[in-house]
Amino acid sequence: MHLLLASNNQHKRRELAEILARHTLSTPEDYHLEFDHEEIADTFMGNALGKAKELHELVAEAHTNRPPIVIADDSGIAVDALDGRPGVWSARFGNTPEHPKLTDEDRNNLLLNTLNDEHNRAAHYVCCMVAYLGVDHYYIVQETWHGEIARSPSNGGGGFGYDPVFLLPDLGVTVADISAEEKHRRSHRGKAARRLASLLDNLELDDFELGLSR
Ligand code: IMP
Repeated sequence: MHLLLASNNQHKRRELAEILARHTLSTPEDYHLEFDHEEIADTFMGNALGKAKELHELVAEAHTNRPPIVIADDSGIAVDALDGRPGVWSARFGNTPEHPKLTDEDRNNLLLNTLNDEHNRAAHYVCCMVAYLGVDHYYIVQETWHGEIARSPSNGGGGFGYDPVFLLPDLGVTVADISAEEKHRRSHRGKAARRLASLLDNLELDDFELGLSR
């Protein structure tokens, strides 16, 4: 199936390309489109749906061909002791007008400092993924991955974002220390993408339906 990814995040794109390897993935650049969605919703679902809808409309406006199915992912990490923060703000956690774009390393250190010696380290990743076919035709899945916030960052080079501080208690290591295959087997994104792909595989959409979805 041909899927268009509504994301500028290279890490997410790489992971989705690995997880959805059976499918043909394209990106907004393949359509010569500049796509930069402003995340204004206060839920993962709202942001994922917003991204998917905006890109679908952009492609429909710019091209006479019917737009392909658009896939959008909104994800983040929710920490129990911080009442679920940073949550939908994960990509922007710690940003200030003076420091509008922290590095992943800065963000991880900020999270560790904020938690300090808090005993409750429980946290989970969330991934909401949308397959968008048209304004009244879309599928949404949301998955989680539970773990803990480590006491210090790992030096492992795997994953991205919060992975060096996301500890997997059953393995005793962080996500930065496991292989990409192992991450995809367990992760919020792996689970969401596989569920969405199997849903799409069973849709048996014909050209007529795809045409209507514009
Ligand atoms: P957004 O979905 O573009 O708003 O960004 C999600 C943010 O959540 C990323 O920039 C990461 O900081 C974090 N995040 C989401 N998924 C993962 C993951 O699999 N590993 C590490 N960090 C993640």
